[in-house]
Amino acid sequence: MTLPPHLSVKDRHLRIGGCDAVELAFKYGTPLYVTDEDRIRANFHGYKKALSSRYQNIRILYAAKANGNPSILKILAEEGAGADVFSSGELTIALQAGMKPEYLLFNGSSKTEADHRLAVEKGVRVSLDSIDELMQLDQIAGEAGKVVEVSFRVNPAIDVPTHPKIATGLATSKFGIPAATITEAYAQALVCKNVVPVGIHCHIGSQILSVEPFAKEAQVLMEVVAELHKMGVKFKFVDLGGGLGVCYEHYGGPAPAFDAYADAIMPEIISTFTRLGISPEIWIEPGRSMVCDSTILLTKVNSVKQAHKTFVNVDAGFNTLIRPAMYDSYHEVLVANRAGEEQAGTYTITGPICETGDILAHDRKLPAIQVGDLIALLDAGAYGYSMASQYNGRGRCAEVLVKGDKSALMRRAETVDDLLAAVVTPPWL
Ligand SMILES: *Cc1c(COP(=O)(O)O)cnc(C)c1O
Repeated sequence: MTLPPHLSVKDRHLRIGGCDAVELAFKYGTPLYVTDEDRIRANFHGYKKALSSRYQNIRILYAAKANGNPSILKILAEEGAGADVFSSGELTIALQAGMKPEYLLFNGSSKTEADHRLAVEKGVRVSLDSIDELMQLDQIAGEAGKVVEVSFRVNPAIDVPTHPKIATGLATSKFGIPAATITEAYAQALVCKNVVPVGIHCHIGSQILSVEPFAKEAQVLMEVVAELHKMGVKFKFVDLGGGLGVCYEHYGGPAPAFDAYADAIMPEIISTFTRLGISPEIWIEPGRSMVCDSTILLTKVNSVKQAHKTFVNVDAGFNTLIRPAMYDSYHEVLVANRAGEEQAGTYTITGPICETGDILAHDRKLPAIQVGDLIALLDAGAYGYSMASQYNGRGRCAEVLVKGDKSALMRRAETVDDLLAAVVTPPWL
């Protein structure tokens, strides 16, 4: 198995950054998400270098839903990133982490009045997904005596090769306004008093492993931009969304490099901008590819059972990492205290949840596993903790940040008290 540079093996123990994974599990308990700070910074710089070497005016908006831990947002804020936020909660956390309001974009197809109010109050731009949203925001901004800058999300109707649940730019997707009617939406926005369209937004899906769909997206987007420019829209930003995939199978082919991605999208964009004589910011919204490989999930073996397969019962289940159960996704598995030992059997890694589907990994060839061993699932940084739940009366686990040989909690594990924190008893009980 090829390991990324922040993971290594020493004395049969898996290491992340300069820390021994077995020691981290002992110190902080399991299950445990462990994130390498420098890897996130390196991923950010990979994007930044690839894009800004081709075009000056770029901005990277981290998709906060991939992993919304405030420490991660803080790291990215330090690097100058903004964020794609999809709720008032994400917006508030991003601002608290030090991100500038003008570097945020409030996305989503179903915002509430309170969402719009918060965006207006904080001076955050809004990506609109319907004419109803346009009208609501115009009114709310007017009541506040403010003018809000907006974009519309356009549906480019592109078929992307990914899991159907995370393809968001299909003609049939719930997201965006069809390219055929997008000019109509902008025409309506242009006559609004309290809203001014200054951008356009698009996001075609997630875990996309070839760059062609992004090239296609850029093409569709530029046709729309040219048309809107003619109509009088003064562009300040063009946002291509996120979606670049990562290589979960470490024996498989590599995920597209940042440079390949930049090569796919930039020529079309730059030539259109040059032709139109405009130079708005280019925004991208990577989530998964920014944080996924930075993080491992450590989980302890409670028991090993020989049945029709050999089941390894661990303390993390789909309450901790739902991706295998929800998307049939694959995560590489290592025995963190026996790394590099010879394979001795085929194991299925199962969680503690009362559901047949609670399986983290099927039929993996691993060293001989015993009670008390420590399993590591790799590439758990995106849509891992952020999708964790308290299902089955289990508090969410802790998250630790590693920088070199330093480690610290960035979120403690939840206790039974946390499970009860929001509970209210009706007076007749
Ligand atoms: C989820 C999402 C992203 C991030 O997608 P990744 O595949 O994690 O890069 C970006 N923009 C929007 C609007 C999203 O919904």
